[in-house]
Amino acid sequence: MFVFKFGGASVKSAEAVRNIVEILGKYPDDEILVVVSAMGKTTNALERVIDHFSSGDRQGWTKEFDALKASHFRILEGLFDEKEHPAFREIGELFGELYELLSEEPTLNYNYDYDRIICYGELISSRIIGHYLNHTGLKTRWMDIRRSLKSDNNWREARVDLELSTRLVREHFRFEEGIRILITQGFIASTINNQSTSLGREGSDYTAALLAHMLNAESVTIWKDVPGVLNADPKYFDDTVLIERLSYLDAIELAYFGTGVIHPKTIKPLQNKNINLHVKSFINHEAPGTLIGNVVYDKLTPSFIFKMDQVLIRTSPRDFSFISEDNLEEIFRILHTHGMRINLMQNSAVSFLMIVNNDKRKVRLVVDALEENYRVAYQTGLELVTIRYFDQSTIDRVMINKELILEQRGVQNIQLLVRDLG
Ligand code: ASP
Ligand code: MG
Repeated sequence: MFVFKFGGASVKSAEAVRNIVEILGKYPDDEILVVVSAMGKTTNALERVIDHFSSGDRQGWTKEFDALKASHFRILEGLFDEKEHPAFREIGELFGELYELLSEEPTLNYNYDYDRIICYGELISSRIIGHYLNHTGLKTRWMDIRRSLKSDNNWREARVDLELSTRLVREHFRFEEGIRILITQGFIASTINNQSTSLGREGSDYTAALLAHMLNAESVTIWKDVPGVLNADPKYFDDTVLIERLSYLDAIELAYFGTGVIHPKTIKPLQNKNINLHVKSFINHEAPGTLIGNVVYDKLTPSFIFKMDQVLIRTSPRDFSFISEDNLEEIFRILHTHGMRINLMQNSAVSFLMIVNNDKRKVRLVVDALEENYRVAYQTGLELVTIRYFDQSTIDRVMINKELILEQRGVQNIQLLVRDLG
């Protein structure tokens, strides 16, 4: 059995959905579990809906909601000629449910409301794709993952209960009665009381890996709009190279530092069971892409990871005392409370430095909280470059026209915080 994951870009239009049929057509005899994301940028749009909803801006969310509904119906019209096809009614009903939710008052818990609403992106997209696959003659069954994947109620970053979920997934996800394709949603789950949860943005890869682990799949393939894992983001780098084979360890390191192609949580469930992960292009689907697994290589390719728009926050005790474990505990508690992630940290005798993404709301909250007991200074407009398997020439290459603010060197990785000199 194979697990195929199709992300937002690979299901963003009627043409993209048709392409899935073409890909599945290459595997006429295999059992395949298809995991899909919301279509295109739907999750971002739903986040805007949620923001308007929770601030009581009905006009704001209605506008976004209408646009989202219209774009999904355009995709339906591109897929089905007969307007009587049940897909139209079902998708209409799902939008109706969502509309009803939005017509209620927001609760006092933003994150809880977020999960109740955000799951519609994946529910709707998987329904449309499921109907279309059946329409083309592929026998598939649509599964609501929330019946099987159970998590705690840590809304927006829910933690999956592996034991319970494994039991339920094995019970529910069965290939039988001539059904060799199952289709379900990535990114979402539910509590044992059936309240919807989500696993963190871009979490569909993680779902695919979990399901593969639970069902002992042969491999997972993530179908993407890039040819595989590249050694740098072509947005920031000329002549990038495709990495054909990658060890689990290198993949997890690259994902952790923010390579973006794979979600960091994806690797562990696969590594634990020795399941191969393929990252392939859904456009050029015959190309081999990248294989991530138990591989050894004779040549190490340096990889470059760029994080733009970084903020350096410098925190020092007000009385010039040393940074102690007490201080660190307090600083980390503040970060944790506001869900702020650190991309790089460093300390000296009297200050603690952290580099974070410029999420303006979070930065404000964190700085305000820190300022109660510390002197806080911060600098914006920075870039963080991580090089795995670095040497002097790779460092020189990224330092052109940059000022070095700080660096951290390990054996394999170097991280450079820089300012662009324009
Ligand atoms: N649709 C979700 C997101 O955009 C999950 C995913 O795409 O992996 O974050
Ligand atoms: Mg995605």
